[in-house]
Amino acid sequence: MKVGTPKEIEQGERRVAMVPDTVKSLVGAGLEVSVEAGAGAAANLADDAYQQAGAKVESRAGSILHEADAVLKVQAPRESEISVMRKGAVLISFLQPATQADTVRSLASHGITAFSLELLPRISRAQSMDALSSQASAAGYKAVLMAADRIGKLFPMMMTAAGTVAPTRVLVMGAGVAGLQAIATARRLGAVVSAYDVRPAVKEEVQSLGATFIELGLESQEGQGGYAREQSEEFLRKQRELIGEHIAKSDVVITTAAVPGRRAPLLVTGDMVKAMRSGSVIVDLAADTGGNVELTQPGRDVDAGGVVIVGTRNVPSTMPLTTSQLFARNVTNLLLHLVKNGALSLDFQDEITKGACVTHNGEIVNERVKQMLTAA
Ligand code: NAD
Repeated sequence: MKVGTPKEIEQGERRVAMVPDTVKSLVGAGLEVSVEAGAGAAANLADDAYQQAGAKVESRAGSILHEADAVLKVQAPRESEISVMRKGAVLISFLQPATQADTVRSLASHGITAFSLELLPRISRAQSMDALSSQASAAGYKAVLMAADRIGKLFPMMMTAAGTVAPTRVLVMGAGVAGLQAIATARRLGAVVSAYDVRPAVKEEVQSLGATFIELGLESQEGQGGYAREQSEEFLRKQRELIGEHIAKSDVVITTAAVPGRRAPLLVTGDMVKAMRSGSVIVDLAADTGGNVELTQPGRDVDAGGVVIVGTRNVPSTMPLTTSQLFARNVTNLLLHLVKNGALSLDFQDEITKGACVTHNGEIVNERVKQMLTAA
C-alpha cells in the first residue's frame, strides 16, 4: 500500500502532513511512502531527512497523488489535486466539511474515501489522532506570545530598585483547548489571568491553572459532546453587556470561542474595544472563522483607537516544525487505525472510522455533513 504527501499549496501554509519520524512509523507498518520534494522545507525538514527515514522523494505532486492509496494532507485538497487522485483512495486532512460543500461533493464524485479531522469523535481512543486539539493547543500558546510581543508592558509583577511593576491582566474568552493553553502560558509569563466560557464545566480546569473563572450568572449553554452550542442573539447581547466591564479592565484579551460548523460568535463589539485602555491588545484566534471581535480584520493587525487587534490567520502554521510534528503523528495514528497487515481495512462499525469519514464509494456518508450541506 502506498501513502503519499504532496507539498501544501494553500497560500501561507507552512505545515506538512508527514515528518521523518512518522515516515519511519509508516514504513515500519509495511507501507510504501512518498513525499513531494520540498514538502517539509517551510518547516525546516529537509528532503534528505525524509529519504533517510525511508521515504521516496518525488519531484511531482501529480504522480504522488495519482499513485497513492492514501494521501495525508494538512489543508483540504483543491480541485486540481482531487482530480488526479485515484478512485478508492483514502484522504486524511482538515476539510471544514460544514462550509466546503464543493470540495466534499467533488471528493464524493471522484470516489475518494475522505476523512475529515474536524469530525473525529472526541473520545479517549481518538485522542492521539485529534489534530484539532494539537493545533489549537499550539495556537493558544502562540496567542499569548503575540500579545506579549505587542504590548508595551511586562507580563509579570516585578519589584525593582526603581519601583514595583504591576502585572499585566489577561482575559481569555473561551476556555477550550486553545483557551486553556493560553491561560497556562500567560500564567507562566506571570500575568494575572481570568477566563470566561459559556460552559461552566470548565470552571475547575480554569481555576486549577491559577486563573479566575468569571461567572456572568447566565445559564449553562453546553451542547452535544461537551461542545458549546450556538447561542441566541439575545444570549450573546446579554453576555456582551455583562462581560464588558471585565474587558475594559484587561490589558490583553484573547478570544478563542468557536462553535463547530458555525461562524464564530461575536463576543467583543467596537464599543467594548473603545472602552479599553489605549495600548491594550486583543488577539482574535477565531479570525479564520469570522472573528470573535467586531473590528478584527483577518490576516492583519488593526489599530482601533490605540487598541491593537491581532487577526493573524492560521496561527498553527507560524510554528510549523512543532505543529507539523504533532499533526503528522495525529494523521499517522488515524491512518494506521484504518490499516491492517499493510492494507486498508475500513470497518464502518468502528466509531472513529464511521465518525470521521465524509465520503465513500461515491457518496457523502456522514449524516451530520449531509444535514449541514442541505441546510446551507
Ligand atoms: P472550540 O474550539 O470549539 O471552542 C473554544 C471554546 O469556546 C469552547 O470551550 C467553547 O465552550 C467556547 N465558547 C463557544 N461560544 C462561546 C461564547 N459565546 N462565549 C464564550 N465562550 C464560548 O472548543 P475545543 O477547544 O475544540 O473544545 C471543546 C470541548 O471538547 C471541550 O470540552 C474540550 O475539553 C473537549 N475536548 C475533548 C477531547 C477528548 O475527549 N478527546 C479532545 C479535545 C477537546
